[in-house]
Amino acid sequence: MTDTTPVLKAKGITRTYGSGCSAVHACRNVDVEIMPGQLVVVRGPSGSGKTTLLNCLGGLDLPDSGRVWLNGRELTAMRENDRIQLRQTDIGFIFQSFGLIPVLSAAENVEVPLRLVRTEPRERAERVAELLKMAGLAGHHNNQRPVELSGEQQQRVGVARALANRPKLLLADEPTGQLDSGPAADIMDLINELVHNQDVAAILSTHDPLLAARADIVLELHEGAIVERTTGRQSRAEHGDADNMIGTANVPYNGR
Ligand code: ADP
Ligand code: MG
Repeated sequence: MTDTTPVLKAKGITRTYGSGCSAVHACRNVDVEIMPGQLVVVRGPSGSGKTTLLNCLGGLDLPDSGRVWLNGRELTAMRENDRIQLRQTDIGFIFQSFGLIPVLSAAENVEVPLRLVRTEPRERAERVAELLKMAGLAGHHNNQRPVELSGEQQQRVGVARALANRPKLLLADEPTGQLDSGPAADIMDLINELVHNQDVAAILSTHDPLLAARADIVLELHEGAIVERTTGRQSRAEHGDADNMIGTANVPYNGR
């Protein structure tokens, strides 16, 4: 069965902060489309608009113009309550600072989203065990609190929690921003593996070109606009050989 509906589709996303001569054009006419099983990386320097774009895609913020569809339903046309509800069921968020509840164990943190949708206790316990295993956490870590875990282990808990309710989309703004390069690569490998095995879609941001090399699609942001759109193989070739830019689809600057 081939599903041809994009998990997420966005057209003409434009978001400006302030007005007049102090206006900041954080997103300019950005288009994004992502299918199940795809990993999209939004790459760009600090201030290029990554957070603004991800917030608009995840329904945390509304663009000034442009439209966003999640699994075929238009987020940008919904009432706020419906948007909040859809966000809870259809999107798993992974946070740069992990966002774990300090007084809960790793397993209890993963359980939180399941409690929110009133999953039965037995099913909850089975799902938590499955998620922790999927995230590569060994049994003895499961009863430890976040403070007793390394940054990488905490982010593994964060990834497991994000997947708890089987969302179709994972969204992560610099999920490896607080990790050293080794653990950061391991977390990227984990997300990459889960995206391909679980058939979810993931959009994440990073300013690290090494991490972007794992993506199926890399969107390069510059001053709020996509200046380059690269498919995974091209991006890996580019990463392996900086001069090998042949075949890269350059997208013209939008909205300027
Ligand atoms: P990135 O995540 O790539 O660092 P951001 O989306 O945070 O980029 O920011 C893009 C631009 O928008 C920057 O110039 C930033 O200063 C500006 N910006 C972000 N949030 C706000 C805000 N709430 N009010 C005003 N300007 C903002
Ligand atoms: Mg940011």
